Amino acid sequence: MDWKNLPGSGNIEDRRGGGGGGIPGGGVAAGGIGAVIIALIAMFFGVDPSSILGGGDSGGSVTQSQPQTQPQSSQSQGQTDSTPADTTGQFVEKILGSTNDVWGKVFQAAGKQYTEPTLVLYSGRTSGGCGTANSAVGPFYCPLDSKVYLDTNFFNEMKSQLGGGGDFAYAYVIAHEIGHHVQNELGISDQAERAQRSAQSEAAANQVSVRLELQADCFAGVWGNKTAQYTKITQTDVQQALSTASAIGDDNLQKQGRGYAVPDSFTHGTAAQRTKWFTTGLKGGDPNQCDTFKGAYSSL
Ligand SMILES: [Zn+2]
Repeated sequence: MDWKNLPGSGNIEDRRGGGGGGIPGGGVAAGGIGAVIIALIAMFFGVDPSSILGGGDSGGSVTQSQPQTQPQSSQSQGQTDSTPADTTGQFVEKILGSTNDVWGKVFQAAGKQYTEPTLVLYSGRTSGGCGTANSAVGPFYCPLDSKVYLDTNFFNEMKSQLGGGGDFAYAYVIAHEIGHHVQNELGISDQAERAQRSAQSEAAANQVSVRLELQADCFAGVWGNKTAQYTKITQTDVQQALSTASAIGDDNLQKQGRGYAVPDSFTHGTAAQRTKWFTTGLKGGDPNQCDTFKGAYSSL
């Protein structure tokens, strides 16, 4: 894909290089990349980092007090709206901009207004509305401050450990996180959280999580479909994204981690499910086909 042809630019808060509230001296160093990888991929694409980030971060409560009324207000704290100087930063800004284009139009057609999210680029470690983010957590969306947190080193991890890289595969990661923002905008995240809280068992709560994650995959596919009008998306591009979607299926991750898969503990969906829902969005380009909350769990 030629990402430079994509429309618009996204709100990037670039905290790499020590600016904008990043905590210097964070955990980039000290080997252990291989050892950390399982923890990393287990969290990969998570929507609820509050439970894994330890919470209790002072930055969180300030944002939490008024999460809805002024979602953009915290931008002033970071270095927003300046285009990153490096290619990776520019790539992320373009992909984010194209998700704004796609979802802005989808929302408009439905008579709704889409609030554009902010994407925080950081290196090693940073704080945010959901607590402290570090690169071991992987990319995630924080519904409390409507920001995606991304350490771009993660793209290197994908290349070496998670089914390979490629621009469209990296874009899929971003589009998936934006899918969680769309869920947040639509009130789906809140509903899911309530359903999880009242779930009778951990397995039942995990099923809600799987439905959420597969819907974010489907939304990422919808982005891919609508983006094809601006840039040619080749079979290779699609294969790379599918390869990533498959590599991060819970079954594959768990087999890699402990040699067998435990379906009840799945939180993101199997390789087959993730592939299926990404493809559904990609082929149809219709968010209405992304209702992963409908029907029996076994039919996902
Ligand atoms: Zn996710």
